[in-house]
Amino acid sequence: MTTISGRTLLAGITGAPLSHSLSPVMHNAAYAEMGLDWVYVPLGVERVGDLPALAEALRVLPFVGINVTMPYKAAMLELCDEVATFADVAGAVNTIHVVEGRLVGYNTDGRGLVDSLAEGAGFQAAGRRVAILGAGGAAAAAVLALALEDAAAVSVVNRTPQRAAELVERLAPHARGTVLEAPEPGAQAESAVRSADLVVNATPVGMRPGDATLVPAEWLHGGQVVADMIYRPAITPLLAVATAAGAHAVGGLGMLVAQGAVSIEIWNGDSQQAAPRETMRAAMSRALAERDAGPDPARD
Ligand code: NAP
Repeated sequence: MTTISGRTLLAGITGAPLSHSLSPVMHNAAYAEMGLDWVYVPLGVERVGDLPALAEALRVLPFVGINVTMPYKAAMLELCDEVATFADVAGAVNTIHVVEGRLVGYNTDGRGLVDSLAEGAGFQAAGRRVAILGAGGAAAAAVLALALEDAAAVSVVNRTPQRAAELVERLAPHARGTVLEAPEPGAQAESAVRSADLVVNATPVGMRPGDATLVPAEWLHGGQVVADMIYRPAITPLLAVATAAGAHAVGGLGMLVAQGAVSIEIWNGDSQQAAPRETMRAAMSRALAERDAGPDPARD
Protein backbone atom coordinates (compact mmCIF):
# COMPACT_ATOMS: atom_id res chain seq x y z
CA MET A 1 0.00 0.00 0.00
CA THR A 2 1.24 3.43 -0.94
CA THR A 3 2.37 5.67 1.91
CA ILE A 4 -0.02 8.62 1.72
CA SER A 5 1.77 11.96 1.73
CA GLY A 6 0.95 15.56 0.86
CA ARG A 7 1.74 14.77 -2.76
CA THR A 8 -0.45 11.66 -3.12
CA LEU A 9 -3.00 11.92 -5.94
CA LEU A 10 -6.51 10.53 -5.76
CA ALA A 11 -8.46 8.08 -7.90
CA GLY A 12 -11.64 6.23 -7.03
CA ILE A 13 -14.97 4.79 -7.97
CA THR A 14 -18.50 6.11 -7.69
CA GLY A 15 -21.73 4.13 -7.86
CA ALA A 16 -24.42 2.83 -5.52
CA PRO A 17 -24.06 0.60 -3.66
CA LEU A 18 -20.27 0.44 -3.46
CA SER A 19 -19.74 -1.52 -0.28
CA HIS A 20 -18.98 -4.72 -2.22
CA SER A 21 -16.65 -3.14 -4.78
CA LEU A 22 -13.24 -4.78 -5.01
CA SER A 23 -11.94 -2.16 -7.43
CA PRO A 24 -9.90 -0.44 -4.67
CA VAL A 25 -7.99 -3.69 -4.07
CA MET A 26 -7.24 -4.13 -7.77
CA HIS A 27 -6.23 -0.52 -8.41
CA ASN A 28 -4.11 0.01 -5.32
CA ALA A 29 -2.17 -3.19 -6.11
CA ALA A 30 -1.48 -1.81 -9.59
CA TYR A 31 -0.34 1.62 -8.34
CA ALA A 32 2.06 0.01 -5.86
CA GLU A 33 3.67 -2.06 -8.61
CA MET A 34 3.79 0.88 -11.03
CA GLY A 35 5.37 3.17 -8.44
CA LEU A 36 2.49 5.65 -8.75
CA ASP A 37 1.88 7.88 -5.71
CA TRP A 38 -1.88 7.47 -6.11
CA VAL A 39 -4.57 6.05 -3.85
CA TYR A 40 -7.93 4.65 -5.02
CA VAL A 41 -10.91 5.18 -2.75
CA PRO A 42 -14.67 4.46 -2.81
CA LEU A 43 -16.76 7.58 -3.49
CA GLY A 44 -20.24 6.38 -2.59
CA VAL A 45 -23.01 8.74 -3.70
CA GLU A 46 -26.48 7.64 -2.65
CA ARG A 47 -28.59 10.04 -4.69
CA VAL A 48 -28.20 10.86 -8.36
CA GLY A 49 -28.96 14.49 -7.42
CA ASP A 50 -25.64 14.62 -5.54
CA LEU A 51 -23.55 13.78 -8.61
CA PRO A 52 -23.03 17.46 -9.60
CA ALA A 53 -21.42 18.00 -6.17
CA LEU A 54 -19.12 15.03 -6.84
CA ALA A 55 -18.24 16.50 -10.25
CA GLU A 56 -17.29 19.81 -8.59
CA ALA A 57 -15.15 17.98 -6.03
CA LEU A 58 -13.32 16.17 -8.84
CA ARG A 59 -12.50 19.52 -10.44
CA VAL A 60 -10.94 21.06 -7.31
CA LEU A 61 -9.37 18.12 -5.48
CA PRO A 62 -6.17 16.40 -6.68
CA PHE A 63 -7.91 13.63 -8.64
CA VAL A 64 -6.33 11.92 -11.63
CA GLY A 65 -9.73 10.41 -12.40
CA ILE A 66 -12.46 8.06 -11.28
CA ASN A 67 -14.34 5.02 -12.44
CA VAL A 68 -18.13 5.06 -12.60
CA THR A 69 -20.28 2.01 -12.04
CA MET A 70 -24.00 1.22 -11.83
CA PRO A 71 -26.28 3.13 -11.77
CA TYR A 72 -24.46 6.35 -12.73
CA LYS A 73 -22.76 5.60 -16.04
CA ALA A 74 -25.30 7.62 -18.05
CA ALA A 75 -25.80 10.40 -15.48
CA MET A 76 -22.05 11.08 -15.15
CA LEU A 77 -21.74 11.34 -18.93
CA GLU A 78 -23.98 14.42 -18.76
CA LEU A 79 -21.66 16.03 -16.19
CA CYS A 80 -18.47 15.64 -18.25
CA ASP A 81 -17.01 18.63 -20.10
CA GLU A 82 -15.90 16.41 -22.96
CA VAL A 83 -16.78 12.83 -23.87
CA ALA A 84 -14.82 10.46 -26.10
CA THR A 85 -16.81 9.39 -29.16
CA PHE A 86 -17.05 5.75 -28.08
CA ALA A 87 -18.55 6.66 -24.68
CA ASP A 88 -20.85 9.22 -26.27
CA VAL A 89 -22.25 6.68 -28.75
CA ALA A 90 -22.47 3.95 -26.08
CA GLY A 91 -24.31 6.45 -23.87
CA ALA A 92 -22.25 5.53 -20.80
CA VAL A 93 -18.98 6.58 -19.17
CA ASN A 94 -17.14 4.24 -16.81
CA THR A 95 -13.94 6.32 -16.63
CA ILE A 96 -13.44 10.04 -16.08
CA HIS A 97 -10.04 11.63 -16.57
CA VAL A 98 -9.55 14.94 -14.76
CA VAL A 99 -7.45 17.20 -16.96
CA GLU A 100 -6.72 20.66 -15.52
CA GLY A 101 -10.10 20.77 -13.79
CA ARG A 102 -12.02 19.47 -16.81
CA LEU A 103 -13.82 16.13 -16.77
CA VAL A 104 -13.18 13.98 -19.83
CA GLY A 105 -15.39 10.88 -20.09
CA TYR A 106 -14.41 7.51 -21.54
CA ASN A 107 -15.86 4.03 -21.71
CA THR A 108 -13.31 1.23 -21.30
CA ASP A 109 -15.85 -1.63 -20.94
CA GLY A 110 -15.85 -2.40 -24.69
CA ARG A 111 -12.05 -2.59 -24.89
CA GLY A 112 -12.10 -4.63 -21.68
CA LEU A 113 -14.43 -7.19 -23.23
CA VAL A 114 -12.48 -7.44 -26.50
CA ASP A 115 -9.16 -7.82 -24.65
CA SER A 116 -10.57 -10.44 -22.28
CA LEU A 117 -11.93 -12.49 -25.20
CA ALA A 118 -8.54 -12.41 -26.90
CA GLU A 119 -6.74 -13.33 -23.70
CA GLY A 120 -9.25 -15.86 -22.37
CA ALA A 121 -10.23 -17.63 -25.58
CA GLY A 122 -7.97 -16.35 -28.37
CA PHE A 123 -11.17 -14.92 -29.88
CA GLN A 124 -10.97 -12.28 -32.61
CA ALA A 125 -14.31 -10.78 -33.63
CA ALA A 126 -13.49 -9.94 -37.26
CA GLY A 127 -15.92 -11.73 -39.57
CA ARG A 128 -17.70 -13.55 -36.71
CA ARG A 129 -21.35 -13.61 -35.61
CA VAL A 130 -22.18 -12.46 -32.09
CA ALA A 131 -25.26 -12.61 -29.83
CA ILE A 132 -25.35 -10.15 -26.92
CA LEU A 133 -27.82 -10.88 -24.11
CA GLY A 134 -29.02 -7.56 -22.67
CA ALA A 135 -29.49 -4.05 -24.00
CA GLY A 136 -28.18 -1.82 -21.20
CA GLY A 137 -24.99 0.23 -20.97
CA ALA A 138 -22.61 -2.76 -20.90
CA ALA A 139 -24.37 -4.30 -23.89
CA ALA A 140 -24.08 -1.02 -25.82
CA ALA A 141 -20.33 -0.87 -25.16
CA ALA A 142 -19.98 -4.52 -26.22
CA VAL A 143 -21.94 -4.05 -29.47
CA LEU A 144 -19.93 -0.99 -30.40
CA ALA A 145 -16.55 -2.53 -29.54
CA LEU A 146 -17.32 -5.71 -31.49
CA ALA A 147 -18.50 -3.65 -34.48
CA LEU A 148 -15.24 -1.67 -34.35
CA GLU A 149 -13.44 -5.05 -34.43
CA ASP A 150 -15.34 -5.78 -37.69
CA ALA A 151 -17.67 -8.52 -36.44
CA ALA A 152 -19.87 -9.72 -39.32
CA ALA A 153 -23.11 -9.41 -37.34
CA VAL A 154 -24.21 -8.61 -33.79
CA SER A 155 -27.69 -9.59 -32.54
CA VAL A 156 -29.02 -7.92 -29.39
CA VAL A 157 -31.30 -10.34 -27.52
CA ASN A 158 -33.16 -8.67 -24.67
CA ARG A 159 -36.02 -9.35 -22.26
CA THR A 160 -37.59 -6.10 -23.45
CA PRO A 161 -37.27 -6.39 -27.25
CA GLN A 162 -38.20 -2.73 -27.77
CA ARG A 163 -35.08 -1.69 -25.85
CA ALA A 164 -32.93 -3.95 -28.06
CA ALA A 165 -34.49 -2.43 -31.18
CA GLU A 166 -33.80 1.09 -29.89
CA LEU A 167 -30.18 0.20 -29.13
CA VAL A 168 -29.66 -1.26 -32.59
CA GLU A 169 -31.23 1.80 -34.22
CA ARG A 170 -29.01 4.14 -32.19
CA LEU A 171 -25.77 2.22 -32.82
CA ALA A 172 -26.36 1.23 -36.47
CA PRO A 173 -24.92 4.47 -37.93
CA HIS A 174 -21.63 3.73 -36.08
CA ALA A 175 -21.41 0.01 -36.87
CA ARG A 176 -19.48 0.41 -40.14
CA GLY A 177 -19.88 -2.90 -42.05
CA THR A 178 -21.25 -4.88 -39.09
CA VAL A 179 -24.93 -5.89 -39.41
CA LEU A 180 -26.85 -5.12 -36.19
CA GLU A 181 -30.07 -6.98 -35.45
CA ALA A 182 -32.66 -7.08 -32.66
CA PRO A 183 -34.33 -10.51 -32.91
CA GLU A 184 -37.73 -11.06 -31.33
CA PRO A 185 -37.82 -13.46 -28.35
CA GLY A 186 -38.56 -17.05 -29.41
CA ALA A 187 -37.49 -18.53 -32.74
CA GLN A 188 -35.57 -15.45 -33.90
CA ALA A 189 -33.59 -15.22 -30.65
CA GLU A 190 -32.92 -18.97 -30.74
CA SER A 191 -31.59 -18.77 -34.28
CA ALA A 192 -29.35 -15.79 -33.37
CA VAL A 193 -27.84 -17.61 -30.37
CA ARG A 194 -27.46 -20.97 -32.14
CA SER A 195 -25.71 -19.40 -35.12
CA ALA A 196 -23.42 -17.16 -33.02
CA ASP A 197 -19.67 -17.76 -32.76
CA LEU A 198 -19.72 -15.67 -29.58
CA VAL A 199 -22.50 -15.31 -26.98
CA VAL A 200 -22.07 -12.62 -24.30
CA ASN A 201 -24.19 -12.21 -21.18
CA ALA A 202 -24.46 -8.45 -20.50
CA THR A 203 -27.22 -8.77 -17.88
CA PRO A 204 -26.99 -9.35 -14.10
CA VAL A 205 -28.77 -12.71 -14.50
CA GLY A 206 -26.52 -15.37 -12.97
CA MET A 207 -25.21 -13.25 -10.12
CA ARG A 208 -27.69 -14.45 -7.50
CA PRO A 209 -27.82 -17.98 -6.16
CA GLY A 210 -30.66 -19.82 -7.92
CA ASP A 211 -30.59 -17.64 -11.06
CA ALA A 212 -31.46 -19.57 -14.20
CA THR A 213 -29.62 -19.20 -17.52
CA LEU A 214 -31.06 -16.74 -20.00
CA VAL A 215 -30.68 -19.20 -22.87
CA PRO A 216 -31.56 -22.90 -22.89
CA ALA A 217 -28.53 -25.21 -22.79
CA GLU A 218 -29.47 -26.78 -26.12
CA TRP A 219 -28.90 -23.48 -27.94
CA LEU A 220 -25.17 -23.68 -27.07
CA HIS A 221 -22.61 -25.96 -28.69
CA GLY A 222 -18.96 -26.74 -29.29
CA GLY A 223 -17.11 -24.19 -31.39
CA GLN A 224 -18.78 -21.25 -29.63
CA VAL A 225 -17.20 -18.87 -27.14
CA VAL A 226 -19.64 -18.01 -24.33
CA ALA A 227 -18.63 -15.04 -22.18
CA ASP A 228 -20.28 -13.72 -19.04
CA MET A 229 -19.64 -10.18 -17.82
CA ILE A 230 -20.42 -11.39 -14.29
CA TYR A 231 -17.27 -12.21 -12.31
CA ARG A 232 -18.87 -13.37 -9.06
CA PRO A 233 -19.61 -16.23 -9.09
CA ALA A 234 -16.66 -17.14 -11.30
CA ILE A 235 -18.71 -19.90 -12.91
CA THR A 236 -22.23 -18.64 -13.60
CA PRO A 237 -25.05 -21.01 -14.60
CA LEU A 238 -24.58 -19.84 -18.20
CA LEU A 239 -20.88 -20.68 -18.16
CA ALA A 240 -21.60 -24.06 -16.57
CA VAL A 241 -24.07 -25.09 -19.28
CA ALA A 242 -21.80 -23.65 -21.98
CA THR A 243 -18.89 -25.79 -20.78
CA ALA A 244 -21.16 -28.84 -20.60
CA ALA A 245 -22.23 -28.15 -24.20
CA GLY A 246 -18.57 -28.09 -25.33
CA ALA A 247 -18.32 -24.30 -25.75
CA HIS A 248 -15.34 -22.24 -24.51
CA ALA A 249 -16.47 -20.35 -21.38
CA VAL A 250 -14.94 -16.98 -20.42
CA GLY A 251 -15.79 -15.37 -17.04
CA GLY A 252 -16.08 -11.65 -16.32
CA LEU A 253 -12.91 -11.21 -14.25
CA GLY A 254 -10.70 -10.71 -17.31
CA MET A 255 -13.01 -7.94 -18.53
CA LEU A 256 -13.00 -6.26 -15.13
CA VAL A 257 -9.20 -6.33 -15.01
CA ALA A 258 -8.82 -5.12 -18.59
CA GLN A 259 -11.27 -2.21 -18.28
CA GLY A 260 -9.52 -1.15 -15.06
CA ALA A 261 -6.09 -1.42 -16.67
CA VAL A 262 -7.17 0.77 -19.58
CA SER A 263 -8.53 3.36 -17.09
CA ILE A 264 -5.14 3.53 -15.37
CA GLU A 265 -3.40 3.93 -18.72
CA ILE A 266 -5.74 6.85 -19.59
CA TRP A 267 -5.08 8.58 -16.25
CA ASN A 268 -1.34 8.00 -16.57
CA GLY A 269 -1.35 10.00 -19.80
CA ASP A 270 1.60 9.79 -22.10
CA SER A 271 3.75 7.59 -19.88
CA GLN A 272 3.22 4.49 -22.09
CA GLN A 273 3.55 2.41 -18.92
CA ALA A 274 1.23 -0.60 -19.20
CA ALA A 275 -0.89 -1.36 -16.15
CA PRO A 276 0.14 -4.70 -14.58
CA ARG A 277 -2.83 -6.88 -15.55
CA GLU A 278 -1.46 -10.05 -13.92
CA THR A 279 -0.97 -8.26 -10.57
CA MET A 280 -4.47 -6.80 -10.81
CA ARG A 281 -6.01 -10.18 -11.58
CA ALA A 282 -4.11 -11.84 -8.73
CA ALA A 283 -5.22 -9.13 -6.26
CA MET A 284 -8.84 -9.55 -7.37
CA SER A 285 -8.67 -13.35 -7.20
CA ARG A 286 -7.28 -13.19 -3.66
CA ALA A 287 -9.95 -10.70 -2.54
CA LEU A 288 -12.72 -12.78 -4.13
CA ALA A 289 -11.46 -15.96 -2.46
CA GLU A 290 -11.33 -14.17 0.92
CA ARG A 291 -14.84 -12.90 0.43
CA ASP A 292 -16.16 -16.32 -0.57
CA ALA A 293 -14.59 -17.78 2.57
CA GLY A 294 -16.16 -15.04 4.71
CA PRO A 295 -18.95 -15.48 7.24
CA ASP A 296 -21.90 -14.69 4.96
CA PRO A 297 -20.84 -14.94 1.32
CA ALA A 298 -24.46 -15.15 0.07
CA ARG A 299 -25.24 -11.68 1.39
CA ASP A 300 -23.31 -9.84 -1.32
P1 NAP B 1 -28.12 -2.19 -17.14
O1 NAP B 1 -27.82 -0.99 -17.97
O2 NAP B 1 -28.97 -2.07 -15.93
O3 NAP B 1 -28.78 -3.30 -18.13
C1 NAP B 1 -29.22 -4.52 -17.62
C2 NAP B 1 -29.74 -5.40 -18.76
O4 NAP B 1 -30.03 -6.67 -18.17
C3 NAP B 1 -31.02 -4.91 -19.42
O5 NAP B 1 -30.98 -5.21 -20.79
C4 NAP B 1 -32.10 -5.74 -18.73
O6 NAP B 1 -33.22 -6.02 -19.53
C5 NAP B 1 -31.37 -7.03 -18.48
N1 NAP B 1 -31.93 -7.75 -17.35
C6 NAP B 1 -31.91 -7.38 -16.05
N2 NAP B 1 -32.53 -8.30 -15.29
C7 NAP B 1 -32.99 -9.26 -16.14
C8 NAP B 1 -33.72 -10.46 -15.97
N3 NAP B 1 -34.10 -10.87 -14.75
N4 NAP B 1 -34.01 -11.21 -17.05
C9 NAP B 1 -33.61 -10.81 -18.28
N5 NAP B 1 -32.91 -9.68 -18.52
C10 NAP B 1 -32.60 -8.91 -17.46
O7 NAP B 1 -26.76 -2.88 -16.64
P2 NAP B 1 -25.31 -2.80 -17.32
O8 NAP B 1 -24.57 -1.64 -16.80
O9 NAP B 1 -25.48 -2.93 -18.79
O10 NAP B 1 -24.60 -4.10 -16.70
C11 NAP B 1 -25.02 -5.41 -17.06
C12 NAP B 1 -24.16 -6.45 -16.34
O11 NAP B 1 -22.83 -6.39 -16.80
C13 NAP B 1 -24.10 -6.26 -14.82
O12 NAP B 1 -24.17 -7.53 -14.23
C14 NAP B 1 -22.73 -5.66 -14.60
O13 NAP B 1 -22.21 -5.97 -13.32
C15 NAP B 1 -21.94 -6.35 -15.70
N6 NAP B 1 -20.72 -5.60 -16.07
C16 NAP B 1 -19.52 -6.21 -15.88
C17 NAP B 1 -18.36 -5.54 -16.25
C18 NAP B 1 -17.02 -6.21 -16.04
O14 NAP B 1 -16.01 -5.51 -16.12
N7 NAP B 1 -16.96 -7.51 -15.84
C19 NAP B 1 -18.43 -4.25 -16.81
C20 NAP B 1 -19.69 -3.68 -17.00
C21 NAP B 1 -20.84 -4.35 -16.62
P3 NAP B 1 -34.45 -4.99 -19.73
O15 NAP B 1 -34.01 -4.02 -20.77
O16 NAP B 1 -35.57 -5.88 -20.15
O17 NAP B 1 -34.68 -4.35 -18.37
